[in-house]
Amino acid sequence: MSKFFTKRLNNLVPYTPGEQPQDKKYVKLNTNESPFPPSNGVLEAVSREIDRLELYCDPECVKLRDEMSRIYGVDPDYIIMNNGSDETLNFAFMAFADEKSPLVFPDITYGFYPVFAEINHIPYEEIPLTDDFSVDVNDYIGVNKTVVIANPNAPTGKCLPLCDIEKIVKSNSENVVIIDEAYIDFGGESAVCLVKKYDNLIVTGTFSKSRSMAGARLGFGIANPKLIADINTIKYSTNPYNINRLTSEAGIAALKEQVYYDNNCKTIINNREWTAKALEDLGFTIIPSKANFVFAKSKDIDGEKLYLALKEKGVLIRHFTKERIKDYNRITIGTMEQMEILIEKIKEIKGEISL
Ligand code: PMP
Repeated sequence: MSKFFTKRLNNLVPYTPGEQPQDKKYVKLNTNESPFPPSNGVLEAVSREIDRLELYCDPECVKLRDEMSRIYGVDPDYIIMNNGSDETLNFAFMAFADEKSPLVFPDITYGFYPVFAEINHIPYEEIPLTDDFSVDVNDYIGVNKTVVIANPNAPTGKCLPLCDIEKIVKSNSENVVIIDEAYIDFGGESAVCLVKKYDNLIVTGTFSKSRSMAGARLGFGIANPKLIADINTIKYSTNPYNINRLTSEAGIAALKEQVYYDNNCKTIINNREWTAKALEDLGFTIIPSKANFVFAKSKDIDGEKLYLALKEKGVLIRHFTKERIKDYNRITIGTMEQMEILIEKIKEIKGEISL
């Protein structure tokens, strides 16, 4: 740290993104990307737009929000587009949480929440998941704080039913409830259908996972227009041009080819079930997942050792050092071919260990 770094952020511990190695080609199962390329329309739309890069982009994302409105069944004024759902989350924290409305979220969840809280000087409480890594809905009923829940949760993959989400939203009518649906397209029930009924609910989503656009950085928030206006106040005080032209056109084209992405999600769900079974056959405990990853613990191999041994063999998975989950690894679901390589390499590692 230089002597110039602001004392205000002295204790800030930044988020550690998953590895994005540039040196060699791995079977990359560590950051929950889609293994499938964007649809053809996206490639064409991006190449058409390149000619217009000398002009600023549309800060309101009018065309993109119109397409979103068609897919999600809400008026465009219920929608804000941002640079990844990370940005929507950060903006929502800035807009709706402070000392008087501190944040509350599970102890095991997306690692960016405490970082966004710290950088914005928002106090937060972490509520432990139950022993089987479930969110206990009762812990969030009438908590009188700004609630954030990833549904499905990460890195566990566990998902709450819509009726439980509704209970939490209904019981906290004086506070905002943020439901982070980054992984909802892999089997969960979205809470978007509740945004017209509850003026305190924000649903965030992303094009990074089910729509194969992690590298383009496109995320969104869906909520009552008054909440959206508040998030826009933060956006227009930070970076109004946060969705570049290429990303915007890519997003519009992707929404027009929803069938392609729906089919990819079905494939991922099938591959997830196959992988979970194959891992269980190898003695792993698997948390039931509704996401594009599984959270897995081996009875024979330590979590970190497995991560390192797989990396050595060219397969990247995600290991977390937090005490409660250090025996587990999060494994992104890829193509069948990738999952077969994963299982084959784990078998090799098990063989080497027992020698
Ligand atoms: N929420 C959760 C739970 C995530 O795991 C991620 C991905 N790291 C995000 C939000 C952010 O995704 P993005 O910024 O790529 O939209």
